[in-house]
This record gives sequence, structure tokens and C-alpha cells, in this order.
Amino acid sequence: MGTDPTTQTLAQLGDNTPEQVAPRFAEIRARFDFEISSDSNTGNWPAFIARWTGRKSGVLTEIGDNWLKPAPPRLKKVVGQEFQKLKAHVESALEAKRKEIESAAEQAAAARDRIDLSLPGIERAIGTRHIIRQTYEELVRIFVSIGFSVVEGPEIETPYYNFEALNIPEHHPARDNMDTFYIEGAREPHLLRTHTSPMQIRTMEKQPPPVRIIVPGKVYRRDNPDATHGYMFHQIEGLAVDTDITFCDFKGTVEYFVREFFGPKAKTRLRPSYFPFTEPSAEVDATCHVCGGSGCRICKFSGWIELSGAGMVNPAVYGFVKNGYDAAKHSGFAFGMGIDRLAMMKYGVTELPLLFQNDVRFLRQFP
Ligand SMILES: [Zn+2]
Repeated sequence: MGTDPTTQTLAQLGDNTPEQVAPRFAEIRARFDFEISSDSNTGNWPAFIARWTGRKSGVLTEIGDNWLKPAPPRLKKVVGQEFQKLKAHVESALEAKRKEIESAAEQAAAARDRIDLSLPGIERAIGTRHIIRQTYEELVRIFVSIGFSVVEGPEIETPYYNFEALNIPEHHPARDNMDTFYIEGAREPHLLRTHTSPMQIRTMEKQPPPVRIIVPGKVYRRDNPDATHGYMFHQIEGLAVDTDITFCDFKGTVEYFVREFFGPKAKTRLRPSYFPFTEPSAEVDATCHVCGGSGCRICKFSGWIELSGAGMVNPAVYGFVKNGYDAAKHSGFAFGMGIDRLAMMKYGVTELPLLFQNDVRFLRQFP
């Protein structure tokens, strides 16, 4: 215990008179009372206990060893009495202090664990559906409401379903417009589908007429990525084949869709076009949703936005399918639209890459 005054005094008791013994013990007791009243000592409770009652070198043990055991006979009685008094005092004070410390700890733990039911809950961000998913679901809702059902198909296709069966033979110039990712190393030639149209053929092969389907999904082209083009985009295909379907049905369906998607004021216009798998073919335009037709940056100041390539199913396609499809009896229409493009138009987004960067600062704008 080094220079501690408590122990400095311990070795000298034998020279005292009996009257001097009690004050020496009183000094020790005062020292103890001072120490136990100070948090800086009792903060390390195990060390404090060891200092006073430790068996090897605690103060009480040292008093027993240095004062009581070697006390000369004239002092033996008074030292024994004073020692017992001091020991009782120290032990009861330590016990009281221990209880005090424990109950303070319990109260602190209880305060920490207490649940206040009146506090407001923690609001957790649950996220929102992606702008493309929202558009996808809106498209599905509109077409399902007028009798179309949803089918999905493989993104890896054969050239037959992606081209030939859609009346696009090899060396047909239409293949040039759809720069295609071919998959190398496969035994059979495969490619990443360039449009959702292969599912027209796959569906008709499985399902005899009538058929009314939409096919939403991902398609791939070797485009140079820019503000409006990427390697991958989302398309939605539509196909309706029955015995009495006319171009009027097609026009009515498209107009209904445009009004449902862009609002009652939106107008539609058809321009003649060419696709190998439709005849006649048309480009469908809708009035620009952003400027309402007066012209803006989004519509390149034309007031119109290209919406869809479409037309009446080319009778040659039924020849590939067979399965009860007879060009003499059946007719139908087909259309394809870009889901990303529809989302950009509806929400006034000018940069396609924003749709795929998944920056939450962007996505949060479309709750
Ligand atoms: Zn516009």
C-alpha cells in the first residue's frame, strides 16, 4: 500500500499506551468513512472491497497481522475490542453501500428498458414501385380490363421465332434494323430477343383462335446507348386474332388505350408504315403528354409522340403457325410499344439512362 497513511501508522502500535489505541483506530475508521463516501473510490467497487477486506493485503487483514497478532499483553484486550468494532463498522458500511450501488444499477437498467407507449413509432421507409414497374402495371390493368390476358416468354430466343416465323427471312433488310445479340457457343443458334413478337407465334402455336394477349418484357438490341437508346429496354406486345377483327377494332383499341393511359384529352393518329409481320402496317402517334400538342422539347416541337408500331397481322404469319389459324377465316391486329418510352412520356423524363441508374433521388419523385 506504499505511502498510504492508513498503513504508515500500522507498524507503530506497540509503542502506544492503552489510551492511545482507540484514537489510532479512529484514524483508520475516519479514513474508511472518507473513502466510502467518495464515488471516485466506490466507482471501482471490486477494487474498493479488496482494499479494505481483501484476505491477502486488505487493510483489515494488515491490522490483524500488524496490530492484533503482535500486540503486547497490556494492549491485547483494547486492540482486540477496537479491531472488532472497526471490522463491524467496515463490514456493515460496505454492505449498505453494496445495496445502494445495486439498486442504482437496477433503476438505471429499468429506465433504459422502459417502453413508453405514448412515443411515436419509428417510421420505416418501405420504398416504392419503380417507375417502369408502375407503367408496366398500368398497361396491364388497361389491357386486362378490355379482355386481354398477360403472357410472358423467354428472353433467349431462336432466330426462327424472333425472325422467320414473323415473316422476316434471312437477308431480309428488316433484320438490319434490329441489330441483334447472338449467343455464341450454343449448338443451335440462339439470340437475345429483339422484340416481344416471338410470343405471338409461341402463343398461337399453343392456343387455337381466338386469342387476345399482351406480352410485356425485356428486349435487347445492339444500339449505341444515348439519351433515348440502350442495350435493353422494355416492350409490350399486343395480339388479337378472331374471325371478324377489322382495322376499326385495332384503331378503337389503340384510341381507348391512349385515353386511358394519357387522359381523356389525348388524341391518336395513324401513319402508314411497314413491318414484315403486319399488313397493312401503321405507326401510332399520340398527342404529346407534356405540352398537350402545342410542341415542346420532349416531342421535338411536333406536338406528337411516336407510340407504337402496329398493324393487321400479315396472313403469311398464320401460314407459319397453322394450329387452326386460317388466313381466309381469321384476321387480327398486333402492336408493340416501348414501356420505357411510355414511362418517359407520361412522367416527362428526357433521359432514358435515369430509368436504369436506380438513383433514389430520381425514383423518389415517382411515389
Ligand atoms: Zn410536347
